[in-house]
Amino acid sequence: MIKLIQGMMDFHKNRRDQVKGTFAQLALGQSPDVLFIACSDSRVAVNVFASTEPGDLFVVRNVGNLVTPATSRDGVLTDESEVAAMEFALTQLKVRHIIICGHSDCGAMKALCLGKEKLPMPYLRSWLRHGEEALERVRSKKNDLALPEEVNAVSKQNVLLQMEHLKSYPQVSQAILGEKLMLHGLWFDIQNTDVYYASLEDPIFRVIDDAEGDRILASIKNNQS
Ligand SMILES: [Zn+2]
Repeated sequence: MIKLIQGMMDFHKNRRDQVKGTFAQLALGQSPDVLFIACSDSRVAVNVFASTEPGDLFVVRNVGNLVTPATSRDGVLTDESEVAAMEFALTQLKVRHIIICGHSDCGAMKALCLGKEKLPMPYLRSWLRHGEEALERVRSKKNDLALPEEVNAVSKQNVLLQMEHLKSYPQVSQAILGEKLMLHGLWFDIQNTDVYYASLEDPIFRVIDDAEGDRILASIKNNQS
């Protein structure tokens, strides 16, 4: 917190003038074309790994980058705030893209791997059930992974699962069918500072290098032409 206050003092004194024009423009309104749903983890620094600027992203962050399915397993919709943000992004901002962004060494995924029933935090234990199927899918294929590998495998699978949860909302699935919306999966490897991409149509995570980046750009152009 001390660093934050000092940062604001520095901003006020030294750096405000450099961004005044940008924010004066943004004060007239926002028009991001992406809803970005990421884990709350402090290391998922999209402004660093995707060079984002103020006004680029409409953001929802929560533990584990989870999305409550339209009809959850127990029939209870527990997170209205996230769905409200999604409604606003689609209806008002008319975003053309929703990104689910997971990451390596995710504490939420680690808790799933270690058994969430052991967690002494009842709300977190309950919330993590929306990611449980990712663990089941990974273990159904391979149940002898060492913990760090399993955590990362579950985290990647969880990105795909949460995209499926997004599609359980008719507003999302209809927008996709009408080619007004695309879903994208990102996965940030903290240690190696690599960003991976996958989609539900092509669910293999690949590093976004020049070739992969061009492929993604072409698919976006193709979808929205
Ligand atoms: Zn996380």
